[in-house]
Amino acid sequence: MLSEPTNEGHAAKHALMQQLEAEVRVCQRCPLAQNRTLAVPGEGNYQSVVMFVGEGPGFEEDRKGRPFVGRSGKFLTEMLKRVGIQREDVYITNVVKCRPPENRDPLPQEVEACSDYLTRQVEQINPRIIVTLGRFSMRRWFPTGSITQLHGQVRNIGRGRVALAMFHPAAALRNPQWEAEFSKDIQVLPKLIARAINANAAAARGEALPAGAPHPGDPDYQPDTNSSVSSSQSEFRID
Ligand code: SF4
Repeated sequence: MLSEPTNEGHAAKHALMQQLEAEVRVCQRCPLAQNRTLAVPGEGNYQSVVMFVGEGPGFEEDRKGRPFVGRSGKFLTEMLKRVGIQREDVYITNVVKCRPPENRDPLPQEVEACSDYLTRQVEQINPRIIVTLGRFSMRRWFPTGSITQLHGQVRNIGRGRVALAMFHPAAALRNPQWEAEFSKDIQVLPKLIARAINANAAAARGEALPAGAPHPGDPDYQPDTNSSVSSSQSEFRID
């Protein structure tokens, strides 16, 4: 179970997330609304310490209104299982919530138009760990560098949060080397999750966490008061 202990805030969080998802389903903020079948707000455990952020819905996702339900989704679910994580225990969403025609890359103005939904999802779920799947979500928390350089890196992004950059599952399925890298990169996740759960439990008990190497929940993290991308970003290795 990758969630925080139950508390009375859960009902409020649930209501806010349901409201956000309802807004997404009828959103007309950008031209992607015109060709979609269904918008895909995201799904999963609102209490999870980990959130996955992909690029945008594909063919199957557009038909079903759910993220990562096609071939890429099966691959992601299988890879999660291999490291002992159940898909239902995490939250999964995308940078843009409606399918770009012919699965083209989302345009900058579409990413910008949809950005507020992702900001609110991060604020409301408040994950300790954000896993970026592919270039478009990576760019939000890793402003420079290519995915071939950055995949597997874990960065402090402020507010007691870290981001882990990974290839998009669809890219991993196209390229055996990237598939091997994906399989390797995801292995850091159980350790990060254990640290995040310990950090939340310590915080709930009112205990300070030991200073030292950054990890999710480390009190040494500089809070990011302006945006989801922190000027205090730093890279570090997980032992
Ligand atoms: S992609 Fe985002 S901003 Fe554009 S219509 Fe869909 S939900 Fe709205």
